[in-house]
Amino acid sequence: MNAVPGDNAPGGAAAEDAAPVNVAPGGAAPGGAMHPGDGTRVVHAGVPEPVPGTPFLPSPMFAAPYHLDPVAGPQEGVDGYGRSDNPTYRGLERAIGELEGGECVAFASGMAAITAVLLATLRGGDAVVLPSDGYFLTRAFAAEHLPGRGIEVRTMPTAGPYPAFDGVRLLLLETPSNPGLDVCDVAELAARAHAAGGLVAVDNTTPTPLGQRPLDLGADFSVASGTKALTGHSDMLLGYVCARDPELVAMIRTWRARTGGIPGPFEAWLAHRSLGTLDLRLARQTANAAAVAELLAGHPAVASVRWPGRPGDPAHEAAARQMRRVPGVVTFTLADKAAVDRFLAASALVFAATSFGGLHTSADRRAQWGDDVPEGLVRLSCGVEDAADLVADVRRALDAALG
Ligand SMILES: *Cc1c(COP(=O)(O)O)cnc(C)c1O
Repeated sequence: MNAVPGDNAPGGAAAEDAAPVNVAPGGAAPGGAMHPGDGTRVVHAGVPEPVPGTPFLPSPMFAAPYHLDPVAGPQEGVDGYGRSDNPTYRGLERAIGELEGGECVAFASGMAAITAVLLATLRGGDAVVLPSDGYFLTRAFAAEHLPGRGIEVRTMPTAGPYPAFDGVRLLLLETPSNPGLDVCDVAELAARAHAAGGLVAVDNTTPTPLGQRPLDLGADFSVASGTKALTGHSDMLLGYVCARDPELVAMIRTWRARTGGIPGPFEAWLAHRSLGTLDLRLARQTANAAAVAELLAGHPAVASVRWPGRPGDPAHEAAARQMRRVPGVVTFTLADKAAVDRFLAASALVFAATSFGGLHTSADRRAQWGDDVPEGLVRLSCGVEDAADLVADVRRALDAALG
């Protein structure tokens, strides 16, 4: 119910162009399917061909320097130093690259990835456009560090109206936006920014590559935090940048090797291990969000609800056109801070925590972090608990919020 077309569907439009997954020698899927479904794709993403006596997923490689050939010295294709060479994060990059449909460069966190795109593409005299309602640290970083470099920072709301893009070197979109969950048309905005000579990046954190494939929609970069739903266990920070243009990929890779924001091998291995359940986790999170959004929409404690999967939501049509599935994050507004305090105190299942996309349902009152939103606005991230338990718990907590 309520989910957008293509929700969890193998062979949806976006899957047509999916990079081939390594499902069997020769590339043929078991049973001969031409386009494996999301569950098959995530389980096999970046996993090497079977070799007797080896594990399915190679264990993490812990190395700073590697042995060099004492005579030949550094050699192309032979690992030499951990800031640029590590087979564990190369495996994770193969996996994410397959899912995004591009080449992936992994970073230590989402902010390391986003700042790489901003600082590697922008020069003095350029302008950058950022969402006025997107992830606040991206705007804070831009305000603190870009004007001093001669870069003009402009902002626009994700739902529009959109400014002209003349002089814009980089357009960064975030859709759905965090925390307001507005959606913009990536293909249309990318065409306009490209016509003005700019590059386009999409922050794909909230949807994950199973929910949305920005490179298929015309973006030059898909950039994301892997800290959230992508890895989903609330136990690591991770980021990545994906692109198709080899020059852009090389630029980001060189940036990372110079600045050093690489993921640690243990995090990279944990992330790759966690990817295998992405389809299952997202399916449950989305189903839980549908049930919780329905409850919120009918409860007297709730002033407003946003979830792009609900027919009637201002972002529903755009999400249904553009996204393969809707994430498990719901945003709603209670009367004030005191109502949110009562809500959190009364709930047994909803953890007070920032971040989202994890196994455990969590809620975050965004005004406490400085977002320019009402005091009672809550971003609720649905976990993978049973829907009936979650709905019963949230209903009890909403009743308590009424005071
Ligand atoms: C969390 C988040 C980031 C930053 O990622 P970190 O991994 O915390 O550095 C960037 N963009 C969005 C949309 C996020 O939710």
